Parts: sequence; structure tokens; C-alpha cells
Amino acid sequence: METTYSQLSQNLYIHHGHVNTGIIRDGNRAMLIDPSGATLQTTLDELGITKVEQILFTHHHRDSTSGFPIPENIRIGVPETEVQWFAKVETFWNAPKFRWHLYNYHPHNLMLSSSISVTDKYAEGDELTWGSSDISVLETPGHTDGSVTYLVDADGQRFAFTGDLIYDEGKIWELYSLQKGQQTTDYHGFLGARDELKESLEKVRKSLPTALIPTHGIIMNNPDDAIDKLLDQLDYCYNKYVSISALRHYFPKLFTDFEGRADHMPIRKGKTPPDFLRHYGTTWLIISENREAFVMDCGSPNVIKQIQQLIDEGEISEVTQFWVTHYHDDHVNAIPEFQQAFPCETITDAIVAKVITNPMAFRLPCISPAVARVDRTTCDGDSWQWNEFKMTAYHFPGQTYYHGGLLVEGHGVRMFFSGDSFTMAGIDDYCSGNRNLLGKDVGYEKCLRLIQELKPTHIFNCHVDQAFDFTDKEINFMLDTLAEREKCYTDLFPWDHANYGMDDQWVRCFPYQQGVKAGDNVTLNVEITNHSDEPRTAIAKPILPSSWGIEIEPKGTTILPKTDGQIQFSITIPSDCNDSGRVIIPFEITYHNRPLGQFRETILVIK
Ligand SMILES: [Zn+2]
Ligand SMILES: [Zn+2]
Repeated sequence: METTYSQLSQNLYIHHGHVNTGIIRDGNRAMLIDPSGATLQTTLDELGITKVEQILFTHHHRDSTSGFPIPENIRIGVPETEVQWFAKVETFWNAPKFRWHLYNYHPHNLMLSSSISVTDKYAEGDELTWGSSDISVLETPGHTDGSVTYLVDADGQRFAFTGDLIYDEGKIWELYSLQKGQQTTDYHGFLGARDELKESLEKVRKSLPTALIPTHGIIMNNPDDAIDKLLDQLDYCYNKYVSISALRHYFPKLFTDFEGRADHMPIRKGKTPPDFLRHYGTTWLIISENREAFVMDCGSPNVIKQIQQLIDEGEISEVTQFWVTHYHDDHVNAIPEFQQAFPCETITDAIVAKVITNPMAFRLPCISPAVARVDRTTCDGDSWQWNEFKMTAYHFPGQTYYHGGLLVEGHGVRMFFSGDSFTMAGIDDYCSGNRNLLGKDVGYEKCLRLIQELKPTHIFNCHVDQAFDFTDKEINFMLDTLAEREKCYTDLFPWDHANYGMDDQWVRCFPYQQGVKAGDNVTLNVEITNHSDEPRTAIAKPILPSSWGIEIEPKGTTILPKTDGQIQFSITIPSDCNDSGRVIIPFEITYHNRPLGQFRETILVIK
């Protein structure tokens, strides 16, 4: 990439690498804000800067804090509430609570791969000077909990270094960082940090900056306009989310402000399930005429007890088939015990099977370390007979991409077991980490088209006692809303499709984590989903520990529209490697000529 920089005032320069780095100069010395990436050095050389003496970071994300070799013995200042994520980041990587059963995403997964030393912590109102410039600190949470804005008064103007609060007029870099719980966990908090973001932007506005300088994005010379456009766009997008959200069924209080809006789908009434069904926890159970049972999901040992009781009481004779709807822990935690207690065939969708048989290979919301045995995997449309019922399995990328749906026909009814994908209030896409893709034939578009075609008499959700259905009009309303969302969310991001800003996993390492030993040959693999309508090139380079002394050249690939591509690296762990425990290997990614910095990581656990 060509190195560029711009000069904003006599002493303030911005290096435009994969992020914007502020360079406040004082003769041949400089203070840097958000230095990241190797190309920065070229700009410093061109400007004749020979000494970087101080660094400020707006927030802890790895893609804006890594890749520029930090000189020794310099001052490094970070937001006070994020010191731990700079100076003791191993406490993140080594904590099981940040690896399994993930319901909270603060901090989220763009963490530094190893700690850096911090000399200064900054909080609201702190002031410092550098050369002829004065710098003051605003706490501006939103993009991360501890993000700060540095107001730089240089040469008679005020420049606000706002981190990733805003990308450009009306745009943000991505929204999965805004996933945040309000009354519950972050898991339920789609765009939940938008109020914080809004307050932070208002605070920045009040400080009357001449320009906003985002970490990712375009310098904004009309801050008022840029902020107003973003707040309007966020409100519009959030309204299109709430209007068909399943969450209105579970947490009506979160949405009282939206009640009765004409552009919101009214909530359906439930209906009584057929009497040959039982519901325990997240498990639905079908009892056939010969008293055999078909069980779906097992999230807790209590379910095993309930089923044992049905057997003891003679209501069922045995469990003969077991179906897993999706990988979330509240559906799979007790599968190993279930499989011990009830030896029967375990069936699931082929994409779900990948996760539940090898959870170590994934980092996803609500993931369980429990490993399940799968005896048979299904593909979209596979059918089989179970006693008097006809079962048809589908890949059903509803609540999560890693999700199946099951049509059960018999006794004069057509029952669709949607896992967690719908409630009477609509669709269940409140966690952006679940990969709810927008577009034709993917995500809920695919699910709703299937429901439209199959016309089930009863739809079931694992967390809801009652059955329900949708009218044609409601299905069309949801489809129209999704089409509108695809447009308005695409406008919210600096990408040619909304999914780049919404799909936390569009670049991912597979496997995410693997166990290795010194001397092993290991394959590191990056998967990339091209969400665009045109082919895209992607280049990846793993950043190995420098002590390994291995030079790795970047590799690239071209990915066809709406498909996944892979880039693989084969490395040998040095036989004298004395790292033990977790080694975090970030990947530098360049996508369609846009460098993204150290964007994703894989974990090697060295024995
Ligand atoms: Zn960031
Ligand atoms: Zn779920």
C-alpha cells in the first residue's frame, strides 16, 4: 500500500495507514496517537522525526494498537479503565470465562496478543502538553467500555481523536463492538451500546472540535453534520431491528418506547401444542404411538432426570432418536451425560455437527466445551421416517448460522422445530456474534422463505411452552423488513455489504484453537466470507512470536461472490520452543486492497 499522510496544522500530521495515526511534532520529536502498522515508520522518516517519545492509545483493540514496533523506554498512555487490556492481557487469554459460555463481550475478541508496558493512565479531564500542543481527555465509551477521546489543541485549532466512535458522516466501522446488555447480558444487547455512543458523541460535539479524526475512517471537518447523520442512521437501523425482534416476547420492558408503532409487527398469540409433545427446559420430546421417544437438545442434567421419570412411569419405553438444533450451551451442555443415559442415534445438521463435535475449533457466543458424539449428519432437505412421523431436516441459519430446523409431519399436523430461531414476536437475531447474515438465500431470508414454502401448522421454539405460527402477511412483512435492513445497514458501514459490519466472523481462523508440541508441523488456516457481489482478493500473514525466528511471507487468494475462501500456512513449531501454555497468533489481513491490521487470531496451546 502507498504510504500517505496529511498535515492538519503546523505541528499536527496524520498518517493514513490501515488506521489514522496522529503525529504531534515538536522539532524532530513526536507524540503519536494510535500508532499501528509498519507503514507508519515511512511517514516518520519522511517527516524527519527521529524520536518518538510518547504514545497515546484511544482504546485497546488490537487492530489499532499493534504492528508498529514501539521504541523502548518511552511513555505509553492508555485509558485508565482499559489498563488491564494493555498491560495484563494474558489475564484475558488464560481465563476460561473469556473462552467458554460467552454471554458477555466486554472486552471482545480484538485483544492484544501480548501485553505492552504502560506508563500513564488517562481519565476524564486529564490534561497534558506536548511541544506547543495541549491535550485533554474525554471519556467516550461506546465502541469499547473504556474508549477515550484526545482533544488536541494545536496551532489554534482543536482536533478530536475519537477512536472508533464514528467512521465518517453517518457511518461506523462495525457494530459488533456495540453489542452490550442493558438489563441482561451482552448476548441480548444488539446495538445495546448505542446510547453510550450517542452520549459520547454529544460530549465530543460540545467540546467544539474543528475536526474529528477517527482511528478507522475519514477525517470529518464538519463534526456536527457527521454526528447528526450517524445518530439518525443508528436510530433508523435500530427501529428496523426492533420492529420484528423475537426479543419483544422475552423482554417487553426493553421496548416500551416502541410499542404500537405502525411499522412494527404485532406480537402473535400462541397456541396449545399437540398432546404427544413434552417440554422440559430447552428440550422438546415427541412420544410416538408405540411409546418410543424422539428427543431434541439436552442443556441440563434435569432434562435427563425428567426423561428417566417418564420411563419409570411407563409413559415412554425408550429414547430412540436424538436431534440437536444448534450448538448453544443451554442446548448441548448435558449431551455427554444424555448419550450415556440413553444410547440412541444422535442426528444433527452437518454444519451444527462441526461445532458440537469439535467446539475447541470455534470461538462463538454461548459456546460449550462439552463434546458431543454425532452418529448421522443431515443436509438441507434430508428426510427419514421415525415411527409414524416423517422427519425432514434443514440447514436453518436463524438464531445462529450453526443451526438446523426440523419439520415433523404426522397425526394431521406439520410441526416445525425452529430451535431458538423465532418467537411469536418475530426473529431471534439479537446477538451479532451469531452470524445472522443479511441477503438473499442466507440467514433469516432463507429461513422465512422455507417457512413460507413448508406452511407448518405449529412452529416451536426451545424456550417457549406454546406453539405459534405466522400468517403469509407477517412472513412478507418480515421479509420486507430484512430487505430494508440490508439497505440501511449497508449505508451504516464503509463496506459494499452490511454483513462486513455485522458478521463478527467474516474473517476467522479454523481451527480457532489447537493443541501442539515443540517440533510439530501445524496448519494455520484463515477462512474469509466474501459478502460482496463481486470476487474479492484476500491476503493473510500470521504474526508468529519473534523468538521462533520464522519468516512467513503473506499469501493471497481470490474468493468468489457470497462464498468462503481459505488461506493456509504450514509451519513447524521450533523444536527448542520453550513457550508453554497459550500462544496467540494474530493474522494481518488485507481484503480487496484494504489493509485491516491484525484482524483475527488463532490460539496454539503448547504442551
Ligand atoms: Zn476499535
Ligand atoms: Zn440458542
